[in-house]
Amino acid sequence: MEDELRDVVVVGGGAAGLSAGLMLARARRRVTVVDAGAPRNAPAEAVHALLALDGVSPAELLARGRAEVTGYGGEIIAGEVSDVAAAPEGFAIKIKKIKMRTNEGELRARRLLITTGLDDELPAQVSAASADGARVAAQINADLVFEDTDRAVASRRVRYPTR
Ligand SMILES: Cc1cc2nc3c(=O)[nH]c(=O)nc-3n(C[C@H](O)[C@H](O)[C@H](O)COP(=O)(O)OP(=O)(O)OC[C@H]3O[C@@H](n4cnc5c(N)ncnc54)[C@H](O)[C@@H]3O)c2cc1C
Repeated sequence: MEDELRDVVVVGGGAAGLSAGLMLARARRRVTVVDAGAPRNAPAEAVHALLALDGVSPAELLARGRAEVTGYGGEIIAGEVSDVAAAPEGFAIKIKKIKMRTNEGELRARRLLITTGLDDELPAQVSAASADGARVAAQINADLVFEDTDRAVASRRVRYPTR
């Protein structure tokens, strides 16, 4: 399928990219989701406030999502998009395949959808105070609203108000 013109290449296969991939695959579009495998919520123990899936692990959520996308004929490539250029039919997308770093591939697509998420930058005092910055990020982003109400998350000096 490497040379085939896709209708859409989705860059990023977290919750957003897989949702898009699912909708496009169900609409019978030739869709490929390229994912570098570093979702923002990876440090969280569980996903919360997602109706009917509260408590499922982030990895399980994405595994289910990938199965749904491929179940409708969508393709998923584990790799990192390293370059995108305009091409006569739309876009030429360069990919470094994660398991074969040396093997750069190129996909062509009419449309490109970027769903690469966000990176968290922790405040300096949190990084310094915490033995596990990722865990702190998880608490700040996900758990504080319920699980950790009124609990310090980093150190004596860093306390996040919870109202
Ligand atoms: C710790 C934590 C816990 C959270 N818990 C919840 C929760 O319980 N409920 C909730 O609704 N939300 C939660 N969130 C918010 C959560 O991050 C988002 O809901 C969700 O992860 C956003 O999905 P996304 O697809 O936009 O981005 P991400 O999940 O970050 O996915 C982006 C993907 O794109 C990939 N990517 C990036 N660049 C490239 C590239 N060049 N080529 C290929 N792939 C690339 C990344 O590797 C990654 O896999 C939490 C956030 C954090 C930080």
